[in-house]
Amino acid sequence: MSIFSGKINAFAYRIGKSPYLCTLQHDNIAIYNINMYTVIKRLEISAAHQLSLSYPSKCSNLHGHNWIITIHCRSKELNEDGMVTDFSLIKQLVKEELDHKNLNDILPFNPTAENIACWICERVPNCFKVEVQESEGNTAIYEKD
Ligand SMILES: [Zn+2]
Repeated sequence: MSIFSGKINAFAYRIGKSPYLCTLQHDNIAIYNINMYTVIKRLEISAAHQLSLSYPSKCSNLHGHNWIITIHCRSKELNEDGMVTDFSLIKQLVKEELDHKNLNDILPFNPTAENIACWICERVPNCFKVEVQESEGNTAIYEKD
């Protein structure tokens, strides 16, 4: 039987100037303390792009990738639904916008993996890190400071 199978009470409290802490209790015994929630959403997207580069490259030709995009969101507090950012909202804001599209037609910048990662991070609530894998071995990461 899981330790979490009994009744679990979650509550938040403040101690001095410290951030909110959430304690999960099982039979009135505190078993876990955290002060940050993180959600990670992984999406697979098929899309085309062509890059505008300062040097000759085959990447300047229109071509496609099966992008794997990993979106990290975090918050010290949960919203009224008990979430950091709804997984379905992330999907709506990213996959439904980019999947099976020519990225040059919908993004107002040179659609490198780096620029796409930054665009996603600014678009998704509570997002702090985005990984954009263009192909096996080629990944760009954008992270907020
Ligand atoms: Zn490419």
